[in-house]
Parts: sequence; structure tokens; C-alpha cells
Amino acid sequence: MNYILSELDMELDLEIIHHELTPTEVILFIESMTVTATCPKCLQISHRKHGQSLRKIRDIPISKKDVYLYIRLNKWYCTNPSCPCKYFTESTRIAPAYQRSTLRATHFYKKAEL
Ligand SMILES: [Zn+2]
Repeated sequence: MNYILSELDMELDLEIIHHELTPTEVILFIESMTVTATCPKCLQISHRKHGQSLRKIRDIPISKKDVYLYIRLNKWYCTNPSCPCKYFTESTRIAPAYQRSTLRATHFYKKAEL
């Protein structure tokens, strides 16, 4: 699975903790190991975790199998009392906010539609 990590250009603080192979899918379970995060509104660094959220992200196929990443990201409190954002979920390069696919999967499936 290490080659997938390098291909994903995954941040150092993300770690594949488990994987499953089915006849049609490769599923990677990934966890964030971050110990701080920066509030997207006020840019203050937070050390207080609020919980976690699970995101399902589609990646490009491997050996004709669909690839899905289940990424557990941390939620954080913003400790700046004047910030309107009370808590936020960290974002990553491979799973930007509101995206359901990696960037390369978006390009791959757009090309496949042409
Ligand atoms: Zn904030």
C-alpha cells in the first residue's frame, strides 16, 4: 500500500490504518494524526479537539477496481472568543472541503466522459 501513499501525495499527518480488497473495490481507511489545526476564519491555531468526522472520497481506479478513501478528520474548537467560527473540521489536500473525489479522480472521470 505504500505506493498508493506516494501516489496520493498524502500529507505526513495522514495515515492508512486499514485496507480492504473486494472483487470490485479497494477501500483505504485513513486517519488524521494532527495535534493542531488552523481556524479557516481567523487563522488562530487550535489545540482543542471537538470530535471527528468521516469523509468518503473517490480516487482513481487501480487494476480496474474502484478506489474509495474513508478519511477520519478531526473537528476543532476555535479558541478565539471574537471569532464567529466556534468549531471547524480540518481540511486536507486530498480531501478539500465539500469535494467527493480527489483532484486526480475528478480529472480522470472527466476525461473518461469525453
Ligand atoms: Zn477562528
